Amino acid sequence: MSEQTTAGQATTEQATAARRPPRPLRHVHRDPAAAPFIVIWEATRACPLACRHCRAEARPDRDPAELTTAEAAGLMRQITAFGRPAPLFVITGGDPFERPDLYELIAEARALGLSPAVSPSATPALTPRSLARVREAGASVISLSLDGASAAPHDAFRGFGGVFDRTLDAWRAARDAGLKVQVNTTVNRTNLTDLPGIARLVHEYGALLWSVFFLIPTGRGRALTSLTARETEDVLNFLYDVGRTVPVKATEAHHFRRVALQRHVLAERGADHERALGLGPLYRDLRERALDTGLIGAERTRRPPIDVNAGRGLVFVSHTGEVSPSGFLPLTAGNVREQPLTDIYRTSPLFTALRDTGRLTGRCGACEFRAVCGGSRSRAFAVTGDVLAEEPWCAYEPGSFPYPRELAGLL
Ligand code: SF4
Repeated sequence: MSEQTTAGQATTEQATAARRPPRPLRHVHRDPAAAPFIVIWEATRACPLACRHCRAEARPDRDPAELTTAEAAGLMRQITAFGRPAPLFVITGGDPFERPDLYELIAEARALGLSPAVSPSATPALTPRSLARVREAGASVISLSLDGASAAPHDAFRGFGGVFDRTLDAWRAARDAGLKVQVNTTVNRTNLTDLPGIARLVHEYGALLWSVFFLIPTGRGRALTSLTARETEDVLNFLYDVGRTVPVKATEAHHFRRVALQRHVLAERGADHERALGLGPLYRDLRERALDTGLIGAERTRRPPIDVNAGRGLVFVSHTGEVSPSGFLPLTAGNVREQPLTDIYRTSPLFTALRDTGRLTGRCGACEFRAVCGGSRSRAFAVTGDVLAEEPWCAYEPGSFPYPRELAGLL
C-alpha cells in the first residue's frame, strides 16, 4: 500500500471520526475484576471543619490507630502490586493537612510510580506555600469543595464563615502552583438553584473536573433532606446539558450513565428529550438559569462518564486500613494491615458480589442499563440495609426506553 493511499485513508478516517459523535460512555481499560481504576485513602479523620454532610463525621483530633507513615508506604506498595497502568491514588480525609507527614507521603507515592491527588479541607493550612509544597512533593491534582455560588450558602453548609473566600483563594493559588483543580459540590435541597452559578464559577476559574456529589444518607449526611428520584433525574439532565461547557462528573449517581446514553440516542433520533424523559419543573428552572448565564450551547467536546462503581473499579481504604468498596458504604472486606489489598479487592465475597450485576435486585436487577450503571450501592445500603437492592434515587422503569435497538450497540 502506497504511503499516499495510507495518508489518504487516514485523512478520510479522521474526517469520519470528526463527524461521528463521541461515544456517550467511557470504559476503563483494565478488567475491573483484576484492578481498580481508583484507590481512595482516608489518611486521617481529623479535620477542623464541621461540614453538614461529612461522611467521615470528622473530628478535631487524629486517631492514634491511623496508619503510620511506614504503614501508609506499605499500602502504596500494595497498590503498585495491581500492576500497570497504576490505579489513580487519592489522599483524602478528614483533612490530609492534619498529617505532618503529608508531603513525605506524596513524595513516596510519586517515587513508587503512583500519581497522587490530594483532597484537602479549606482551612488556614491551605496557603500558597503549602500548595506549592504539595506540587513540589509530586501531586498534580487537588480537589476543593464548593457548595454554593456565593459565601452565605457555602459557609452555612461548611459550618464556618470565611470558607468560601478561602476556597477561591486556594483555587487561584493551586493553579499558580501548577496544580490541576477538581471542584466537588454536594447537591442538596439548599443549593439546588445555585448549581448553575457554581457551574459558572467552574467555567470561569477553570477546573479539571466538576464532581457533583449526590448525598448518601450516612455520617452527618443523615440529617440533610434528600432529593426525590424525579428531582434527581432533573438535576442529572441539567448536568448533561452543561457538560458541553464544563467537564462534569456525577458522583454516587451512577444513573448519569443511563441518562448520557438516553440523551445520546434521543439526540441521534432528533427526539425531544424533555418530553421523552418526562423532565419536570426543576429541570426547566435549572436550564433557564444556565441559559441566562451562557452556560448552555457551547461546542466543547463532552467528557463521557466513566463506568466505575463501588467495588467495580473503586476501592476505599480507611484511616485504620479497613477496606470498603466505597467511602460511603460502611461494609468492610478486610484490613491492609492483615491482608494485601490486591487479595481483598480481587477475592473478597463483598467485592465479587458487587461486580456481579446479575445479583442486583428490584428495578436495578431487571434493568437493561445495569451492566453500565448498577445504581449507587452505597445509597441502596444506607436506605434499605441491602447492598444489592435497587437504587432509591432512580426513577427509571426498566424496559421503558423506546429505542432498545439503538441502545444495544452502546451498552
Ligand atoms: S434502575 Fe438501577 S441500573 Fe437501571 S438506570 Fe436505575 S439505577 Fe441504573
